[in-house]
Amino acid sequence: MLQIPIIKYILKQKSILVLSAHCDDAPIACGGLLLRLKEESKSSCRILSVVFSGGDDEVRKKEEEDAAKYFGVELYRIFSFPDTGFPNHWYEIKTNLFRLREELGADNIGAVISPRCEDQHQDHRIIAENAWRIFRNHMIFEYELQKYEGDLSKPNLYVEIPKEVAEKKIQILMECYKSRIIHNWWKEENFEALMRVRGMEINTEFAEGLTARKILI
Ligand SMILES: [Zn+2]
Repeated sequence: MLQIPIIKYILKQKSILVLSAHCDDAPIACGGLLLRLKEESKSSCRILSVVFSGGDDEVRKKEEEDAAKYFGVELYRIFSFPDTGFPNHWYEIKTNLFRLREELGADNIGAVISPRCEDQHQDHRIIAENAWRIFRNHMIFEYELQKYEGDLSKPNLYVEIPKEVAEKKIQILMECYKSRIIHNWWKEENFEALMRVRGMEINTEFAEGLTARKILI
């Protein structure tokens, strides 16, 4: 398996900004990538998670904090925008993303990982569209989320996930997000299944599929 080369050449000493509309979005979609980034960067870059809802829910906030530790991510900010109501707050969300960019320093951000612009969930889409508006000279990688909308992507970027990393990702999800067990889709098998499908597409066992929306060289 190749090391993730962009870490060495482009992202070194820079921050990777990971955006989620809801707690658990990025961990479900690209938890394996986060674990690989942490391991392979040898801490040479900061991985900063920004979540746009759940900050006013003590249970969900604590779950996200716990999961972030295991994924090796800094939970940099967790906002309290209303779940499913992001379209009514798109300008505030845009303003907050702008402030984050200024706070961190645009030149210090190496890449942004966000939901997809084509995501059918309105909250995910607002984050993705605003990421595109605010991070103009940054690389943007978009993750896919399996959900009721049935809007999986056709990935153009595959991240091979070693078996032990795939198992660790699933273990963190199941142990940290206990409040999610009420959902009948919150199952190890579902998380494993998509990684297996994406793995099959690159002739390996497990992978995560992303869209490389914007690449700068
Ligand atoms: Zn979500």
